[in-house]
Amino acid sequence: MTIEELIQKLENIKPEADLAKIRAAYEFAYQAHQGQKRDSGEDFIQHPLEVADIVHEMGMDTTSIIAALLHDVVEDTAAEVEEIKKRFGSEVALLVDGVTKLSRLAFQNKQEQQMENLRKMFLAMTQDLRVIIIKLADRLHNMRTLKHLPEEKQKQIARETLEIYAPLTHRLGMWKVKWELEDLALRYLAPEVYYDLVNKVAKKRQEREGYIAEVKKTLERALAEMEIKAEVQGRPKHFYSIYEKMQEQAKDFSEIYDLMGLRVIVSTVQDCYEVLGIVHTLWKPIPGRFKDYVAMPKSNMYQSLHTTLIGPNGEPLEIQIRTWEMHRTAEYGIAAHWIYKENRPDDQELREKIAWLRHLIEWQGEMRDSEEFMETLRIGLFRDEVFVFTPKGDVKNLPAGSTPVDFAYSIHTTLGHQCTGAKVNGRLVPLDYPLKNGDIVQIISSKGSPGPSRDWLQFVKTSKAKNRIRQWIREQHREENIQIGRDLLEREIKKQGFDFQENTKLEQLTEAAKKLGFTNVDDLLAAIGDLKVTPSQVLGKLGGEKEAVKPLISEVDEKKRPRRQGQGVKVRGVENLLVRFSKCCNPVPGDQIIGFITRGKGVSIHRIDCPNILAENKERIIEVEWDQNVSGVYSVDIEIEAEDRVNLLTDVLNAIAELKLYLSAAKARTKKGTAYINLTLEIANSDQIQSIFKRVGRVEGVQRVYRVSRLVR
Ligand code: MN
Repeated sequence: MTIEELIQKLENIKPEADLAKIRAAYEFAYQAHQGQKRDSGEDFIQHPLEVADIVHEMGMDTTSIIAALLHDVVEDTAAEVEEIKKRFGSEVALLVDGVTKLSRLAFQNKQEQQMENLRKMFLAMTQDLRVIIIKLADRLHNMRTLKHLPEEKQKQIARETLEIYAPLTHRLGMWKVKWELEDLALRYLAPEVYYDLVNKVAKKRQEREGYIAEVKKTLERALAEMEIKAEVQGRPKHFYSIYEKMQEQAKDFSEIYDLMGLRVIVSTVQDCYEVLGIVHTLWKPIPGRFKDYVAMPKSNMYQSLHTTLIGPNGEPLEIQIRTWEMHRTAEYGIAAHWIYKENRPDDQELREKIAWLRHLIEWQGEMRDSEEFMETLRIGLFRDEVFVFTPKGDVKNLPAGSTPVDFAYSIHTTLGHQCTGAKVNGRLVPLDYPLKNGDIVQIISSKGSPGPSRDWLQFVKTSKAKNRIRQWIREQHREENIQIGRDLLEREIKKQGFDFQENTKLEQLTEAAKKLGFTNVDDLLAAIGDLKVTPSQVLGKLGGEKEAVKPLISEVDEKKRPRRQGQGVKVRGVENLLVRFSKCCNPVPGDQIIGFITRGKGVSIHRIDCPNILAENKERIIEVEWDQNVSGVYSVDIEIEAEDRVNLLTDVLNAIAELKLYLSAAKARTKKGTAYINLTLEIANSDQIQSIFKRVGRVEGVQRVYRVSRLVR
């Protein structure tokens, strides 16, 4: 693609002034990217040019084409948004800024960076939807040229495409882009599966095409008789959708019949229903497979009639019937809104159609945890839907499988919290009842209700309901725990006869909280209420005259191997608690772990099968989990049993060196011809242990490799 080729395409549809602006944007991008190459070896400018072409092919306006040409200059060159704004106006600047990633330096890790970038993109999208269209065109071109990247990068980008961008195209109704993105992603994520499908489909297509041509002829004749002007098209399925179907229904390729369906495109809505009548008289419809998305459009604006018939050869045959306008919307989705319309104002109708997007962003605005964020995003994007009605007849669109509780939260948070029961079509149903299309839902609520129950989290489907319930529980428990914590502490103060000066009490408690690793007194009280810290521990920090009690589990080697305390572990429900790793079983990220409340030394973390913890007082054991973004170095002790031979130790140590792991101690002994080698290694997670087992296991003579715990008592 060259700028001249692009201009040629636009010449007859755009005014001269627009063409001049497009040229200017190209010149600017050309200068800015000069000297940069893509991984394919091409000049970088090829990429923005192709993206601009894709944006144009979708039917987008001049502003979008200009922004597409400039989309990478802020991210990849010295150019600033301010300059874009000065030269090309604030609309273009907003679009370019919207697709520009945040600087790498601002983040602790990749997940956080990905989360904040997506958040930024979604926010920009709510201001101007063209942001996402440019981003999708950008992604599409990158996917088309993915073969030039290293395999690992290919897979990572393909996965992100499948998890985020393809579902987005689905939600925005951009079927054509979705189809191509999914097929490309499959090709890189599972090349064997993809090429196998390509071959099989090619073989089967020929026979199938003859059959479809026959059906098409019959249908066209019937339509002509009724004097309906229509275009009948054979419609091949894309590979990813065949793959999905095989996965979902656990079917073999030979069992998939509908590799190709038919599509009838007509001029008016009335014709759609007439065509439906005709096909239903020609062939027998399969009950339950007729869907009227004309009267009831999908939330991505998709409209069509769908029906499945028993075709002339006895196999199911899918037919879609739609008008030309519906067809354009089905292919280009949200982008159809701009087709050949310049500077279209952001109208109310469009805003309503993307209301889901605003909601999605609202729920996410509050989230700090990147795992939780991605989960909500996925739920929000990937969903089949049900349409249900309020008693007043308003339609509500909910994810498939939603329950009355989801419905209640979708109307109002308070209604969700106070929901005690529900009626569907006038009959009482349980709160976990899965709603069906067309259900009329009435929520029974009471101001005196005890509030949401933790069980609800098991069945609700919407992210709004999930988040609101979680939030409520968190707040409730905290309040309760603070109250209980205060009572327990006061009781202990009285019991031990502590003499407080009331005016310095808060100050002293704050200091005690800090000493125990909390940020404030409320956090400390909540932890006491949750029985994670004992009142006497707190008093120990206050007085200082009481003798420090020894921890129940003594720690070995503490001075020899100091490390960052408790980094990477979360005690469920409590933050900022003092946490340390036990030295007896050396847990590493990925291990199942458990916490043990020590006297005056916070919580010590053990592996769940640690022999030291098994015998301990159950009341002192608490649930803990690894932080999702854990990083750091951990020690692990392993023992190797091997047939003793010359150079055994050297071979084992070489194997370890190959894995590029740091060895901090090694010890070997022999007993009756068997060698026992004990190693202490520094690793980052339990996956590395598996590689150690595998690699060391291959060393000649090695019989067993296992982790060891030291029994300390
Ligand atoms: Mn790009």
